[in-house]
Amino acid sequence: MPYNWPDLERELREFLPRKSVVSKRQELLVYDCDGLTIDRNVPPLAVLPETTSQVAQILKCCYRHGIPFVARGSGTGLSGGALVEQQALLVVTSRMRRILDLDLPNQTITVQPGVINSWVTRAVSGEGFYYAPDPSSQVVCSIGGNVAENSGGVHCLKYGVTSNHVLGIEAVLPDGTITSFGGKLSEYSELDLRGTFIGSEGTLGIATSITLRLLKAPETVTVLLADFLSMESAGEAVRKITAAGLIPSGMEIMDNFLINAVNDLFNLEEYPRDAAAVLLIEIDGQLQEVETAARNAIDLCKESGARHIRKADDELDRLRLWKGRKSAFAAIGKISPKYYVQDGVVPRSTLPKVLTKIESLSRQYQIPVANVFHAGDGNLHPLILYKEGLPNIEETVKELGSKILKECLAVGGSITGEHGVGSDKRCYIEWMFSADDLETMKLVRKAFDPEKRANPEKIFPTPKSCGEATRRNFIISKGKEQDNSKIEIF
Ligand SMILES: Cc1cc2nc3c(=O)[nH]c(=O)nc-3n(C[C@H](O)[C@H](O)[C@H](O)COP(=O)(O)OP(=O)(O)OC[C@H]3O[C@@H](n4cnc5c(N)ncnc54)[C@H](O)[C@@H]3O)c2cc1C
Repeated sequence: MPYNWPDLERELREFLPRKSVVSKRQELLVYDCDGLTIDRNVPPLAVLPETTSQVAQILKCCYRHGIPFVARGSGTGLSGGALVEQQALLVVTSRMRRILDLDLPNQTITVQPGVINSWVTRAVSGEGFYYAPDPSSQVVCSIGGNVAENSGGVHCLKYGVTSNHVLGIEAVLPDGTITSFGGKLSEYSELDLRGTFIGSEGTLGIATSITLRLLKAPETVTVLLADFLSMESAGEAVRKITAAGLIPSGMEIMDNFLINAVNDLFNLEEYPRDAAAVLLIEIDGQLQEVETAARNAIDLCKESGARHIRKADDELDRLRLWKGRKSAFAAIGKISPKYYVQDGVVPRSTLPKVLTKIESLSRQYQIPVANVFHAGDGNLHPLILYKEGLPNIEETVKELGSKILKECLAVGGSITGEHGVGSDKRCYIEWMFSADDLETMKLVRKAFDPEKRANPEKIFPTPKSCGEATRRNFIISKGKEQDNSKIEIF
């Protein structure tokens, strides 16, 4: 039965300001996709609440009308999580941008979900604190989106991902009930529903207030830049550094394609153009500890075949070394306005092997793939570059992306590290989990959302979205590959 959109809109306008209800198609066009620009659909209606009670009222209206909803933060997600694929109300949090509470003695901050990641550190840096999870999109992505995706970033190698820094969540459930998980303390005796909500990709409800853990800014920070003539040597340096027990706050690798792309973007020669890979290592902590760790890391890079190593101690120099890495996606966007990012994870020791596979897939498909990745976490981000308008190019690009993910699984990895499953990877999730695993996850979802109204059709495969592709002909169980038949997904 078609949904009653006119009645829903009328009811929403009764309690929301005029500017908070968007129904004109030309105004809704800005919400037709997230960072995964390959899939697009204009939502039928969007609302921009400012308070928890407005979100609750909105979801109550949806509940009464049996209309699904999709939460959206800044729309930078890379797995289609905020995409309204079917008929659903879009609930945008970009007007929920207030800091609600700052408790420096207890190192916590409570924010509305639309607050931008980097604003949190900006709000407390003057007092010597910061918020550790730092996705490369941190100047635009929202804390609500970070919670929903359990986002990672450069510093997550040492400090952990979003789930390690969220203490409490206030959320509105799909029937409009306001509830909370956790609070301002690190530990609670309750079932860890806070952990369940984090990373649930908007399928359990909408987070309306989030309490974050703040860290004391480190005494010293040093950044090393090492360049290598082969990706294997760069991977070996990462392996040696971690095997030696050093825990840098970040270890990132960029390949030759990206080195040249970022040098071109900024008209700089920060990274040696002929290097096969550059490795950026950030070490933080107390002065003595950082100096010793940096010396060790330099030795280990040299042993692994590093050609040159630069060390940046002052802030300006450090920012210069990071600038290219932080702008890697923008640099690629300049070369190829169309690209598709994948997000696989592999055990660190298999990085060189998987990168070689990616290179051979790129040759086989004759489609360039650039690589930038959180090397310390084994979290790969192959960027598949393509030209719009070529016959079946989007399907081919997705097929190449799926083959890369299979390579990750074949070495005991995962189909997502930090970008989530969303709509993009729901047809692949069966490659990782058994039917029983998925059924258990669905039961958890059902406990929060019996009618499947919150971000429906995301994460789990559906016959409509995946069709024959969802047949389990390729099962990966505990890192072991059982190849039941030839893999045909497209
Ligand atoms: C250039 C670039 C670099 C990136 N780098 C990284 C990186 O280093 N690490 C990383 O992890 N990610 C990265 N990302 C991906 C993306 O920025 C993150 O996933 C981010 O957390 C998404 O936040 P957002 O506000 O844009 O969320 P959106 O894209 O708006 O939404 C993402 C998901 O969260 C849900 N959601 C949003 N708000 C709420 C809420 N209040 N309650 C419940 N559900 C909600 C949505 O329904 C959707 O499923 C990058 C993206 C880009 C474009």
